[in-house]
Amino acid sequence: MVKIGEKPEGVEGQGFFATSLDKVIGLARANSLWPLPFATSCCGIEFMATMGSNYDLARFGSERLSFSPRQADLLMVMGTIAKKMGPVLKQVYDQMAEPKWVLSVGACASSGGIFDTYSVLQGIDRIIPVDVYVPGCPPRPEQIIEGVMKIQELVKNESLRRRHSEEYKRMLESYNLT
Ligand code: SF4
Repeated sequence: MVKIGEKPEGVEGQGFFATSLDKVIGLARANSLWPLPFATSCCGIEFMATMGSNYDLARFGSERLSFSPRQADLLMVMGTIAKKMGPVLKQVYDQMAEPKWVLSVGACASSGGIFDTYSVLQGIDRIIPVDVYVPGCPPRPEQIIEGVMKIQELVKNESLRRRHSEEYKRMLESYNLT
């Protein structure tokens, strides 16, 4: 069943509804996230199921996948990331325009998973900032959907000033990102 987006808090009466710009923009962004699927291994298969008709990520306004970083605002990393792949992932993140969010799907992307070895990155948060982690090996589509819903919550409640704050700039600098 399609869930109608909840309207933000505001003042309403007959023929009018007033709320703040932050909340309207948050509502629009949260319900039209364009994911970039960075899928390298088995977790990517779960993502394919999430996009299929049974789970249908389109219910959340996110059916429009982008394979161009410049036209995506949600980076979904799914699978084992080899250290050699790290710079590629970082470049993809860097090419995405602000505002952007990152969902780390599965044990491998979040911590290296079972691959505690010299060639595997032990978590993508060593090279890019992550907003939400989805546990599991692999996580089921329901968990991936829950991760997307957590991102939606963050997006809805984010202040328009956050991306211009000193704190945010410092966080990017700590990852050698500008
Ligand atoms: S977390 Fe498990 S299912 Fe996902 S990519 Fe790693 S090994 Fe595969």
